[in-house]
Amino acid sequence: MSTRTAVITGASAGIGAATAKALAHAGFQVVLGARRLELLKPLADELGGTALPLDVTDADSVASFVEQVPECHVLVNNAGGARGLERVEDADEEHWRWMWETNVLGTLRMTKALLPKLVASGDGHVITVTSIAGHEVYDGGSGYTSAKHAQSALHRTLRSEHLGDPLRITEIVPGMVETDFSLNRFDGDAERAAKVYQGLDPLTAEDVAEVIAFAATRPPHVNLDQIVLKPRAQLNGSRFHRQ
Ligand code: NAP
Repeated sequence: MSTRTAVITGASAGIGAATAKALAHAGFQVVLGARRLELLKPLADELGGTALPLDVTDADSVASFVEQVPECHVLVNNAGGARGLERVEDADEEHWRWMWETNVLGTLRMTKALLPKLVASGDGHVITVTSIAGHEVYDGGSGYTSAKHAQSALHRTLRSEHLGDPLRITEIVPGMVETDFSLNRFDGDAERAAKVYQGLDPLTAEDVAEVIAFAATRPPHVNLDQIVLKPRAQLNGSRFHRQ
């Protein structure tokens, strides 16, 4: 079989970087996209892949990225994250705008731009990293949970719109994963970020990447619709067992 190409957005850190590694090890030709090229390049070199600058919030950046990808079998919509943890009464519109632009419109732009190539590949696969926040709500989380709900709805709509096309659709739904996610959410406040993971074993980026690679390496007729994975000590977005 000829080499399959996988595009991974937000591949400069965390789940995206681990996914690029896992897919390269599974035999994919990987194309890594993110804004921090200085992190992407060495990883792409190590994996024999390609690093391309990508800002999913910028239509021109997405267009020039996609132009440089001649074919695509797998798209991993991973770029995203959270900003802030304010109650609705204190909601920060800038935080909301960032979360909606990156998680929701970013996924829309990348998916829309690569769909023709995914379908033309004869065995395309859209894998979107949403979150348990896409399926429940928690106090202070409305900006993030609403964006992740929207991202999940957008992603799941593809399953019925493309029924009959050679396209698989998989939603990856992680609970708590220890990455820079909380550091970014709390604007670089390392102490506050560390508290999120205190007293329990969170998932690692590699745990999630392994599941993504598993979904991407099933035979073409097998569609894993939705995969939820959480640390054992996490029940949902607001209940944990901490030592
Ligand atoms: P992370 O370590 O903060 O990584 C976020 C990645 O997204 C970075 O590579 C960043 O790259 C990229 N990104 C951000 N804005 C971007 C933009 N405008 N254009 C292109 N890339 C952009 O966080 P992570 O935990 O790996 O998060 C990855 C995904 O998993 C997110 O969608 C997140 O919502 C989801 N998730 C995370 C958790 C968790 O607990 N960590 C749980 C469930 C779901 P650059 O800054 O270089 O552009």
